[in-house]
Amino acid sequence: MQGGCLCGAVRFEGRGAPTGVIVCHCRLCARWSGSPAITVEFERGISFEGDVIWFGSSKWGERGFCPACGSTLFFRLTEGDYINVGAGFFDDPAGVPPITLEIHVDAQPSYYAFAQGAPRLTGEDFLARLESGKA
Ligand SMILES: [Zn+2]
Ligand SMILES: [Zn+2]
Repeated sequence: MQGGCLCGAVRFEGRGAPTGVIVCHCRLCARWSGSPAITVEFERGISFEGDVIWFGSSKWGERGFCPACGSTLFFRLTEGDYINVGAGFFDDPAGVPPITLEIHVDAQPSYYAFAQGAPRLTGEDFLARLESGKA
């Protein structure tokens, strides 16, 4: 599955099959793009080409955007090789599977809701799942 930013300067490709489509309701994601994040992760990560600027948004994560058009493309962990990409950046949106998980639901504002019925985890529950290696 391939995609790119608004101006086309950054192109990317998911490596392997998608393993999850995750909604994040946290305040960092809301401030990053102006709305909740819907991101896609892949079996073997994501490769990309073109200039990406990385902003360290927390101790453990950084967010990559296109310096030409500002598209808020990627999130990756500073340690390890985890990376995801915003679901809206794929060339073929119909190829994105339905949402599999919602996280940081305790930070979700009241002005929207997703109707897919995916499992919903609080920030605390999500971090506990990460630490137990089941994320
Ligand atoms: Zn761009
Ligand atoms: Zn978030």
